[in-house]
Amino acid sequence: MDIVLSGIRPTGRLHLGNYFGALRNFVRMQHDAKCYFFIADYHSLTTHNDPEHLHENVKTVLAEYLAAGIDPQVATIYIQSDVPQVTELSLLLSMHAYVGELERTASFKDKIRKNPSNVNAGLLCYPVLMAADILLHRATHVPVGKDQEQHLELTRVFARRFNNMYGVEYFPESQPYNFGAELVKIPGLDGSGKMGKSENNGIFLADPDNVIRKKVMKAVTDSGPTEPNSPVSEGVANIFTIMEAVSDPSTITYFKEQYAACTIRYGDLKKQLAEDIIRTVAPIRERIEAIRNDDAYLHRVVCEGAEKARESAAATVSDVRNIMGIRPF
Ligand code: ATP
Ligand code: MG
Repeated sequence: MDIVLSGIRPTGRLHLGNYFGALRNFVRMQHDAKCYFFIADYHSLTTHNDPEHLHENVKTVLAEYLAAGIDPQVATIYIQSDVPQVTELSLLLSMHAYVGELERTASFKDKIRKNPSNVNAGLLCYPVLMAADILLHRATHVPVGKDQEQHLELTRVFARRFNNMYGVEYFPESQPYNFGAELVKIPGLDGSGKMGKSENNGIFLADPDNVIRKKVMKAVTDSGPTEPNSPVSEGVANIFTIMEAVSDPSTITYFKEQYAACTIRYGDLKKQLAEDIIRTVAPIRERIEAIRNDDAYLHRVVCEGAEKARESAAATVSDVRNIMGIRPF
């Protein structure tokens, strides 16, 4: 059976892009594979977070994952720092990670360019810790976005190197998990590009109904079609793309026909989109609020997740120690 691992940095609230692009697929995937989901709080320390914020963000992401449908009885969901075995594995793997190859990763170069005053060693070793996250459970598959492909490639390099160095077949060469045709990219409503935290154009799972309505009504459109079957501008196309995710097919057909006939009113289109987004988001938001206020439940989920993750982690670290020659007397 596939062993799948996915991590998320606790850097803010989740938006529709995260939901349709990742989370909703995870919810399905948890029944088909042995899944580990973790909240990467160690990783987020590379940018020197405010401690209060960090803890609150971990709690938020945890509540959002659970509210979206990750089932702690089915999958293992845990906080990275609750499984300190990952730091030992990271140290052990770092002995075979070359400074040159770490310096050459695109994400490191990008980070030091953007933040030249904070080029810390944690940043340089980020791919080693990420490899440790994955290899800790000997994950065969990792669902990754385009920006993470290079890190997964490095993980395979480290795994292969380790296996060759010690003459073992211990670590798998973890592959990208392929959701197949279901992979969708949710655009922003600001006329171009994707919805993203950095893009600052998110519609969040925690947004109240009126905030969603406001954000959608501000969506960029154009002056409207002037002749039958006019080409669709990017802003309007983006509205239809989000509709594909949240609206009934008959709704989409209706507005496409209106567009083709030049009778479309963008105000009506946006109102419909807002209500359809609300239909998806409102129940999740209500669950987020309930779960986030239930400290006893969160505590239990975190403890049980940590216990399950540590079991798998301890077995791996014990094997790796033994392979590398750290053995009990
Ligand atoms: P950042 O701006 O910090 O990169 P983000 O908003 O892009 O944040 P990530 O944390 O990078 O979000 O992504 C988490 C997951 O959500 C990844 O699997 C990523 O591919 C997916 N994802 C993010 N934005 C979108 C989007 N607009 N459409 C589809 N999937 C998305
Ligand atoms: Mg991103």
